[in-house]
Amino acid sequence: EASVSVEYQPSRFRSEPIHSVTLLRGVFDRWLADVVSARGAMIVPGYKVDDLVWEGEKVTGILSSGDEVHADVVLAADGALSFMAERAGLRKRLQPHHFALGIKELIELTPAQIQERFGVQPGQGLSHLFFGSLTQGMLGGGFLYTNRESISLGIVLGMGAMMEKGDSFQAHELMDDFKARPEIQSLIAGGRVVEYAAHAIPESSVNSMPRLVRDGLLVAGDAAGLGLNMGITVRGMDFALVSGALAAQAILEAKDDGDFSARSLARYETALRDSFVLQDHRTFAAMPGFLENPRLYTLYPERITELFENLFWIGEGPKSSLWSTIWGTVKRMPWIAALRDAWNLRRL
Ligand SMILES: Cc1cc2nc3c(=O)[nH]c(=O)nc-3n(C[C@H](O)[C@H](O)[C@H](O)COP(=O)(O)OP(=O)(O)OC[C@H]3O[C@@H](n4cnc5c(N)ncnc54)[C@H](O)[C@@H]3O)c2cc1C
Repeated sequence: EASVSVEYQPSRFRSEPIHSVTLLRGVFDRWLADVVSARGAMIVPGYKVDDLVWEGEKVTGILSSGDEVHADVVLAADGALSFMAERAGLRKRLQPHHFALGIKELIELTPAQIQERFGVQPGQGLSHLFFGSLTQGMLGGGFLYTNRESISLGIVLGMGAMMEKGDSFQAHELMDDFKARPEIQSLIAGGRVVEYAAHAIPESSVNSMPRLVRDGLLVAGDAAGLGLNMGITVRGMDFALVSGALAAQAILEAKDDGDFSARSLARYETALRDSFVLQDHRTFAAMPGFLENPRLYTLYPERITELFENLFWIGEGPKSSLWSTIWGTVKRMPWIAALRDAWNLRRL
């Protein structure tokens, strides 16, 4: 096993206004719940929505533990596997290749350990992304990011690719192998796993995105399929927040009009289309298809690490020139496939 790293340390990301943050959902969600409660919202935790309530073709509420809760409008934000969107007829039957599985461990380390191991100052953090043999040729990769008193470490795997591996495939074994790699071992040594999560991530293209409204109902966030794997980063939090805000705005306007029909709520779809949310999804619409190429996780990483090994290895005999070492690796590429992959890059 070998690995090649590329490091990017932009001073721009370190200066105000802060461009990126890492957050723990357990902490963030509670904080957000307090903020909206202080503004008059009522949060009802611990209850599962079992079904939608209908009046003819119109959604008029939800059913939970046998109780009907009626509302002018329901905003379905029940995550990637949203049964509400499916029940409302806004989404076709879920297909494995439209989703990835994210496995994440939260590993406790002291702030001093984090600063020393990752070379960050108090209040700063970093993230690492990994791709190559860790996913055994399947769509996906690994990630690591620092928090204040922990690191989040995980892998993302395409569900379609996993299913092709058959029943004997165990995703958690890949996570164990990932943690055992020398690049990772030294970073997590002595850390205690305090949280383990496995979660679906929507990865379908905007081309297969369903309608997001019907009479009395809107869909936002992952439930609307708004996750986006951009290859170099997974996005979903920003789309969930902004789609939620745009849905709320559309509901307020519909309330002013006293009209919660699909026609009235369609202003939400228009606002989403005009925002960066659907514009980014359109820009990266070819990405899910591109990422299904196994060569990205096998052939190319293997050739890159092999090239670096040959460049740096000094054996007993005479050393080849740099050019013949590079050419020796490049000429063994399957040219037609590699050219096709390079050509497809222009669509990303
Ligand atoms: C491993 C992993 C890494 C990720 N990394 C990033 C990242 O680096 N950056 C980024 O932007 N995004 C990332 N994402 C994606 C991001 O987490 C999601 O896009 C985001 O959480 C979507 O928010 P949401 O509110 O739509 O859905 P969720 O956060 O999934 O929330 C849905 C909520 O609905 C609840 N629910 C579901 N069904 C019901 C029901 N029947 N009744 C009541 N409640 C229900 C669930 O319990 C959950 O609390 C990552 C996801 C994973 C899994």
